[in-house]
Formats: sequence, structure tokens, C-alpha cells
Amino acid sequence: MQVLVIGAGVIGLSVARAAALAGHDVTVAEMTGGIANGVSSRNSEVVHAGLYYPTDSLRARHCVRGRRMLYEFCASHGVAHRKCGKLVVATTDAELGKVEAIKRQGETNGVEGLDMIGGNAARALEAELSCIGALLSPESGIVDSHGFMRALWGELEDRGGMIAFETPVERMSYRAPHWHVQFGGRDAGGIDFDAVVNSAGLSAQGLARRIDGYPPGKVPRLVLAKGNYFSFAGRPVFSRLIYPTPVDGGLGVHVTLDLAGRMRFGPDVEWIAEENYSVDASRAGAFYARIRSYWPGLPDHALVPDYCGIRPKLTGPGEPAADFVILGPQAHGMPRLVNLFGIESPGLTASLSIAEEVVKLLS
Ligand SMILES: Cc1cc2nc3c(=O)[nH]c(=O)nc-3n(C[C@H](O)[C@H](O)[C@H](O)COP(=O)(O)OP(=O)(O)OC[C@H]3O[C@@H](n4cnc5c(N)ncnc54)[C@H](O)[C@@H]3O)c2cc1C
Repeated sequence: MQVLVIGAGVIGLSVARAAALAGHDVTVAEMTGGIANGVSSRNSEVVHAGLYYPTDSLRARHCVRGRRMLYEFCASHGVAHRKCGKLVVATTDAELGKVEAIKRQGETNGVEGLDMIGGNAARALEAELSCIGALLSPESGIVDSHGFMRALWGELEDRGGMIAFETPVERMSYRAPHWHVQFGGRDAGGIDFDAVVNSAGLSAQGLARRIDGYPPGKVPRLVLAKGNYFSFAGRPVFSRLIYPTPVDGGLGVHVTLDLAGRMRFGPDVEWIAEENYSVDASRAGAFYARIRSYWPGLPDHALVPDYCGIRPKLTGPGEPAADFVILGPQAHGMPRLVNLFGIESPGLTASLSIAEEVVKLLS
């Protein structure tokens, strides 16, 4: 099939590669001038083990499977990564109960090697940590997400696929037996494809509404939740990822590490009405308070506003987190079309597994 994948983020690139490996003729249309200019360049680069997500949800299934696939891919394609492990820490008795529940959920989801350890054992691993207990997750890690996406692009091109940059998809209509797709940008015009995948991230809902005849009831609402990061101006003190217990809308302000060992903190949860990428320095106050609950040694003036990312959520404040929504022909009634909505965390980790499901839905 001639397959069009819309969006060159980690999901579009993973789907495009998987479709090319399956023998399809693949074109990716990307509205910006390069790969990974959307949500995929604004995250924590954490390889999630699969702890938090409800049993049998798409997030649980694709995170655990996708994580194993991602480590294998990184090892075989020379993508930098480190299985550094992670501690989910409890600082009160109430939090201890929550962390134990996370362990049980992780085990149900099939996460390997989880271990509850006491405060002293946690401090033996990370001397600066203050907690009464912690969940050790040895499968969690970090990845060079840009290196990963470059490797996906390389493999797509090796299989004859290509990316058309500065090529926004404007409208689509099904004219049996083809999808007629209208492009804007530098090569504006219309082209026919056999199959289409909408992996446009924050624009997926807007794009789905521009598919002629697509049922409006199959476009979920979009809720934007900004996640701000602060970098740490000092020598790193942790060698593992350190997470507090989750909060409404996110996993809590955690310690992430990059592959050079530098520490940063975030993301928090800031519900916003419109896309914007400024980091409000005054949010530092809440960061100091939260981080000092598990790292009392955090010095004053050590946090520097860094970057932010926006989660394409499907539910708002106080509502239960939504699952990934992957809608194929059976769900919406249109042939050889897959729409992906709400691919927030752990989308990077889950991408290779999601891609296999999408390619199956196309045929
Ligand atoms: C703050 C934050 C932290 C996160 N941390 C992690 C983490 O540590 N680990 C993890 O596993 N996941 C994490 N995630 C989730 C992960 O980053 C996302 O799930 C993933 O990047 C989504 O990729 P995507 O390809 O769907 O979207 P995007 O990367 O946004 O790609 C969509 C692309 O579509 C293009 N596009 C849009 N409209 C059109 C159009 N009409 N025509 C052509 N192109 C179009 C855009 O330009 C963009 O390049 C995090 C997310 C956030 C926001």
C-alpha cells in the first residue's frame, strides 16, 4: 500500500518505519522543517518501566512491551541509553501505602524486578535522599530520544520511505478506493494514498475534524497540560531517577538525568487554554517545596527555568487519566485510516509497540 503518515514525531516515525518494514511504500508529511519539533522534543527522555497504568490499558500494554522493544532497538542500532533504574519515594505513611499500590500495579502489568526497600536501604543507594521507603524499579532508564528518532528516520529511508518537510496536511476525503489528501506548504496540491495514519500529536483532533465524513463523535476533546522543567545549577547528587508519589495530571516533580549525568527537575502540571512555551520562573517556589520533601539538601537559588512540554491530554483537572486512543476502521467506519489521540506519557517508551498495532489496523 501507499501509506501516508502525518507527523514526524516519535509516533509518526515509529509507525512509518514499521509500515516500511512490513513492505509498504511510506511517505511522512511533516508541517515543520525537521523531525521531532513537537511534543517529542519536549519530554523527560525517560524509559518508563510501566508501573502506573491500569491493568490491561493500552498504556500498560504498550509501555511494558514498548520498553523491551526500545532497549533492544537502542542496543542493535547504537542509540545511547542507560538502564539507570528509578526510585519512587515515600516520605509519609500515607505515601508509603501509595507506593506499595504502585508496586502491585506494576507487577500486575508485568514489570520485572520491582522491590520495596526501606529508608536506610534507599539512602545506601542515594545518600542525599530522605524517605521512609521506596520502590526500586531496575528496568527504568533514560534514552537519547533524538538519537532514537534519527535511527527510525534512517531505517525508514533504507526501506525506501521518505519524509516531506514543510508539508502540512490540510484536508482529506475518502474517494474509493483511495484517500485524497490535500497538502499546503511548499509543494501544495492533492495526492492519493491507500492508507493514512494521523499521528499529528497536539493537532490530531484538529486534523481529524478536517477529514470529510469522519464521525465527530470519534474526535475526543483535547486538554492541554503544560509540564515545566527547571535545571539544576550544580553538581548532580543522584545517579538514579527519583520520583515522588504521583499527583493529579502527572507523575510529580521528579529528578531526571540526561546521559551526561546532569540533573533537572520536572515536569509539573500547569493546565493551559492555548499552546505556549514560556516557563514561568515564579513556579520555582513550588518546585523547591516539593523537591525538599525528598531532598532536604537542595540549596537555595539552585533551580533555573529550563524548557516545557505540553501533554495532549483527553481529560482535565480532577478527572481520571485517559488511556491512549487509537482508532482504526472498526472504531470509526472509514477504511485504512488510523487516528491516534492523547498520546502523552509514556508515548516515547511505548512508540515501537504502538507502531506495530497501528500497522496491523491498516491492513
Ligand atoms: C512534559 C512531558 C514529558 C514527557 N515525558 C516522557 C517520558 O519521560 N517518557 C515517555 O515515554 N514519554 C514522555 N512523554 C510523552 C511523549 O513525549 C509523547 O507521547 C510523544 O512525544 C508523542 O509523540 P507524537 O509523535 O504523538 O507527537 P509529536 O512529537 O508532537 O509529533 C507530531 C508531529 O505532527 C506534526 N503535525 C501536526 N499537524 C500536522 C499536519 N497537519 N500536517 C503535517 N504534520 C503535522 C507536528 O509538527 C509534529 O512534528 C512526555 C510528554 C510531555 C509533554
